[in-house]
Amino acid sequence: MSVDAVALWRFLDGEYAIVREHVRSVLSRPAFATYAAAPPTERYREQVSERARILAATGGPSLLYPQEFGGLGRVGAAITGFETLAHSDLSLLVKCGVQFGLFGGAVHHLGTRKHHEAYLQKIASLELPGCFAMSETGHGSNVQQVETTATYDADAGEFVIESPTESARKDYIGNVALDGRMAAVFCQLVVGGESRGVHALLVPIRDEGGSPVEGVEITDCGEKLGLNGVDNGRLMFHSVRVDRDALLDRYAEVTPEGEYRSPIENENRRFFTMLGTLVQGRVSVGGASISATKSALAIAIRHGARRRQFGPPDSDEELPLLDFRVHQRRLLPALATTYALHFAQERVVAELDRIFGSIGEGEEEAERDRRELETRAAGLKAIATWHATETIQTCREACGGAGYLSENRLGELKADTDVFTTFEGDNTILLQLVAKSLLTGYRDEFEELGPMATAGFVVSQAWETMVERSAGRELIQRLTDDLVPSRERDEDLIDREYQLGLFRWREEHVLSGAARRLRRGMSDDGADPFEVFNDCQDHVLVAARAHVHREILEDFCAAIERAEDAELRTVLERLCDLYALSELERDRAWLQEHGRISSTRSKMLTRTVNGLCASVRPHAEDLVDAFGIPDELLAAPIGIPGGEASRTSSAEIGDELPNVREILERVGEEVLQ
Ligand SMILES: Cc1cc2nc3c(=O)[nH]c(=O)nc-3n(C[C@H](O)[C@H](O)[C@H](O)COP(=O)(O)OP(=O)(O)OC[C@H]3O[C@@H](n4cnc5c(N)ncnc54)[C@H](O)[C@@H]3O)c2cc1C
Repeated sequence: MSVDAVALWRFLDGEYAIVREHVRSVLSRPAFATYAAAPPTERYREQVSERARILAATGGPSLLYPQEFGGLGRVGAAITGFETLAHSDLSLLVKCGVQFGLFGGAVHHLGTRKHHEAYLQKIASLELPGCFAMSETGHGSNVQQVETTATYDADAGEFVIESPTESARKDYIGNVALDGRMAAVFCQLVVGGESRGVHALLVPIRDEGGSPVEGVEITDCGEKLGLNGVDNGRLMFHSVRVDRDALLDRYAEVTPEGEYRSPIENENRRFFTMLGTLVQGRVSVGGASISATKSALAIAIRHGARRRQFGPPDSDEELPLLDFRVHQRRLLPALATTYALHFAQERVVAELDRIFGSIGEGEEEAERDRRELETRAAGLKAIATWHATETIQTCREACGGAGYLSENRLGELKADTDVFTTFEGDNTILLQLVAKSLLTGYRDEFEELGPMATAGFVVSQAWETMVERSAGRELIQRLTDDLVPSRERDEDLIDREYQLGLFRWREEHVLSGAARRLRRGMSDDGADPFEVFNDCQDHVLVAARAHVHREILEDFCAAIERAEDAELRTVLERLCDLYALSELERDRAWLQEHGRISSTRSKMLTRTVNGLCASVRPHAEDLVDAFGIPDELLAAPIGIPGGEASRTSSAEIGDELPNVREILERVGEEVLQ
């Protein structure tokens, strides 16, 4: 196998290559230099605000918004640009995410024309810095229960915003402590004395001079574990009045007389429809975590290829760390998984772009597509951000003491990405959402099976259960293998169909097991659905994980199909094997427990992963070069080829930055089609 890093780089850059290149070239300028250690918090926040303004001036954020309101209407390109930004300072990334993605996204997706005309351009240019105020001290995951109220006063034609309790305080909100002028505030809407559920309103929080608006109490969250360039803060509202137009009224309006109207009658459905439109935030965080993981792997793998320790007794030469099997084991399966996640992210971005950029689809079809996207995005965000946390820690350890120095950036990457597992939906909660949506789909499928197929399903379940429970499982395994001899052949482990089969079987088995447990629980007299679900929660989460990994593997396979060059395909095939088999290896106890693989095969799995690590090892540096992270951005001395970060750039400080709009015009819009 040989790796053409440049060809692979082009392939990874994909259809939005021009946007990735643009962002890289902007961030490689000295104005964005990454420093060995973050400046003191006050200075750091100023620096991040200043850099966000420079980025806004390039026109990048306008990719997110519709053309008729001054935007470029390219959501896929925008998310890809955001992902690329994650190779730089992650405080800058999150500051931009709050302003353009969350605040702008709420105005765009929950508001109507009057809001778009008044605000979108000002948001894209950062003339109007804003916040997304959903979480409260009392409710972060369960946001349907937020306590802030917006009560309509028909006489004045205004809403009154109130924080009725201490736990109603808006908490952790980005852009609040220093810069935010306005916030999209999520409140319980009260009209005519009746509560209508959670809705978002635009509430000014600071005046032109930067002082808090009367009735708005602003406090600073202070220092955090990471992301200290972002000014997170808290908000309390004391009888703050806003005009009736402040309600973001795409899904519900209040007439001047105080009549509440919504095209979605069911309150629950309305709430989840509103939240669903904000899916781009989750897609963005997932993508950013993959980029941060790539940065960490680029640093650790390059260091591992250069750093020497120990050697054979008959030699004066010590070996590069990466020649040690355990070092390969720590880094290379993680590298393969990162490639897998890259392609899964590419797929979710394409779906997002298609669904949110599409017009003219049937409502029902569009809603089904949106629901599928939400489930896919939730699952991928959870798996990708957990992978980032685990991999960055591994990279830190793999670089020894050097990995602990601030200048090598792994500490910063660790601290800054840590919270990605929590915001934009806590991962555990997200996997529950995935599982619930699967179980709903499962129920539908079961009902549609018809009597014969259902009987077949039950028989196959009974067989599996018998295999699992049997004391002679090994014997049955051997019998099964005799019946299907190809299952035990060495080369089958790297047979893609076999891998896909195992991933699909695992998902189906866990899911059907969870469904059976739920059904059994519900069949008891007086069963409480909440209790029953709670009892199966662990099972349900395993099902969600298995589902997401099956999707990731399928997305990897689809990417391989797209690769036209035979050499490139071979490289991707090897990485895909390494991802699939190391993922199965993690679960080999479970696979054996369920009679799916024998102990012999389980050992073979480990041997095969070792062999794959050995075959990928000579190409490890090319594989991280293909991430295309400029030296100026990576900035870690141990992670730069040659060992010294080049902190200079071909561009002078005063150089005018390229504008996204001009780039699109120059190259032709068809590039992004
Ligand atoms: C740096 C930072 C920036 C943020 N920025 C913003 C922002 O700009 N705007 C905004 O609105 N919010 C923001 N947040 C808030 C963030 O979205 C919430 O912290 C997050 O949703 C989790 O809510 P919580 O902190 O209340 O945790 P909780 O909901 O209390 O969860 C705590 C733990 O309990 C677990 N848990 C909760 N419920 C269940 C259950 N049913 N079953 C099993 N386990 C459960 C969770 O998995 C989690 O591990 C930010 C947070 C941070 C830290």
